[in-house]
Formats: sequence, structure tokens, C-alpha cells
Amino acid sequence: MHLENRPRLKALIEEEQRMGASIRIQLLGPNVGVGFAQENQGVILNNYFLRVDDPNFSEDRLIVVLFHELGHMKYFAEVPKLERIQEDSEFRAFENSILETRRLAEQQNDPGPLNLAMRCIALRQISGREPQHYQAAIDRIIASELWKDCKDCQKNADQDSGDNS
Ligand SMILES: [Zn+2]
Repeated sequence: MHLENRPRLKALIEEEQRMGASIRIQLLGPNVGVGFAQENQGVILNNYFLRVDDPNFSEDRLIVVLFHELGHMKYFAEVPKLERIQEDSEFRAFENSILETRRLAEQQNDPGPLNLAMRCIALRQISGREPQHYQAAIDRIIASELWKDCKDCQKNADQDSGDNS
């Protein structure tokens, strides 16, 4: 594993593995994406993006991807194959990424991944380039109570730190 420079990601992967998640790191090249969830294989993170020193693939981003893909695995475990709906699977993935990064913000005083996750989802909502099932899942997450709670929580954090910008 090439995680020497990604200590927070490394700790989270190890924590999830201890709780039974299957997470593998595999070198896959730049054109196939950062992470995947496959029912039989678990979460696969593309080592290509773990090794590059590119601000577009910051540790915060990789943490968000990890939790997104783990959300897909939870959906696979919760819903029988014939009843699965792509939009619902994406919703569960976005929801898990928000829930877990909020936990980091609240319990580990590490708001970076939550802020990035929310910024990316908000940008994707207005990009006009998302496939229909993604767009629908994004619209649902932004309309959710969870999203509203996290927005309020961010506002309070800004006030606490005296940041009025
Ligand atoms: Zn997804």
C-alpha cells in the first residue's frame, strides 16, 4: 500500500477493515476512476490516485470516495439483487459519505472531508453533466434533513471561529 503520505485515509481503511469491510488497493491506471464497489470483491481503491500528488485527489477527496464506495457496499448488503435501483444505490453512497465525514468533523475535529463532500455534491447538482440516476440521487440528498443539518452545523462552525467571510 502507498499510504505513507495519507495517514488519515490509512487509519480509516484499517478501522473499516477491522469492522469487517473488504477494501483493497489495486493499481489501475488513470482512466478508470478513483474507487469502485463490487458486491463480490468489496471496495477497490485505485492506487494510481493514491500515489499522485495532485490537489484534485487530496486526502480529503480520497476519504470521501472511500465512504461513498462503502455506502454502495451497505446498499448491496441491505437490498436483494433483483430489487436494487441505481438511483437508490447512489443515494445510499452519497448519504454514507456525508454521515461518515460528519462523524469525522464532530468526533475527530476534522471538517475537511465533510466540507469537500458537500462542495462537490453541490457543484455536481448544477453541472448538468450527471447521468440521470446520479442527478436524481444528488437532488434527493440536497433536499434531505441530513443535508440541512450539516449546513446548519457548518454555519455554526463558521460563527464559532469568527469567520464572517
Ligand atoms: Zn457511486
